[in-house]
Amino acid sequence: MVELKTATEIDAMKRVGRVVADALAAARAHAGIGVSLLDLDAVAAKVIADAGAAPVFLDYHPNWAPFPFPGVICASVNDAVVHGIPSDYRLRDGDLVSIDCGAKLDGWCGDAAISFVVGTAASADEALVAATDEALRRGIAAAQPGNRLGDVGAAIGDYARDQGYGLLADHGGHGIGRVMHESPDVPNEARAGRGMRLRPGLVLAIEPMLIADGSDDYRHGADGWTLQTITGARAAHSEHSVAITDDGPVVLTAQH
Ligand code: MG
Ligand code: MG
Repeated sequence: MVELKTATEIDAMKRVGRVVADALAAARAHAGIGVSLLDLDAVAAKVIADAGAAPVFLDYHPNWAPFPFPGVICASVNDAVVHGIPSDYRLRDGDLVSIDCGAKLDGWCGDAAISFVVGTAASADEALVAATDEALRRGIAAAQPGNRLGDVGAAIGDYARDQGYGLLADHGGHGIGRVMHESPDVPNEARAGRGMRLRPGLVLAIEPMLIADGSDDYRHGADGWTLQTITGARAAHSEHSVAITDDGPVVLTAQH
């Protein structure tokens, strides 16, 4: 069932959204050559705890996963697309890092992700990150009341394919509210004008996951959680939680 949120509830979701944005910004600011993924996890965990919020990825255990997720953030490096476990891996010059973070405050969830390069970036990685951010921007811009869900997927997918990038198979965005994953699914590739009508009060996590070489396929890493590109190509992930309002889409996970 799709739950529509009131303006008051959307304001509450902005508060948790800001906590998620702050946690991501702190992790990014801390990232550097020689810094471990566990260090980034600790930085994000502190921001969430200091805000009186709770992490939602920690101990999350979907039925396909071998064990509950052990981190506050997902930290996915290079050919890891999403669901990377924060480990003692130390970042190296030129690594492409995607950090995904979720939190809950006053009963409401926020979910967002960023990608960036540590140290000296290869131009291809810079382009991939920029295209992923642009795909997200276009997806958000299409999340207008009166549009359809397919307009969001078409905005993301058409752009990514035009640029020659792949889109992680079987994965996309989702509704979000009192739980992290609600209806509807938000595909990153779709036909414009199709699917559910977007109405004020609908809140969506929109999250393009682009793969550098145009491939879409993945495999599970040895840890059972991490999704890696099948070709070894690098990937980037960018996400915001977005409320559809009478005035258009409002990004809830922006830093203010
Ligand atoms: Mg996320
Ligand atoms: Mg999400």
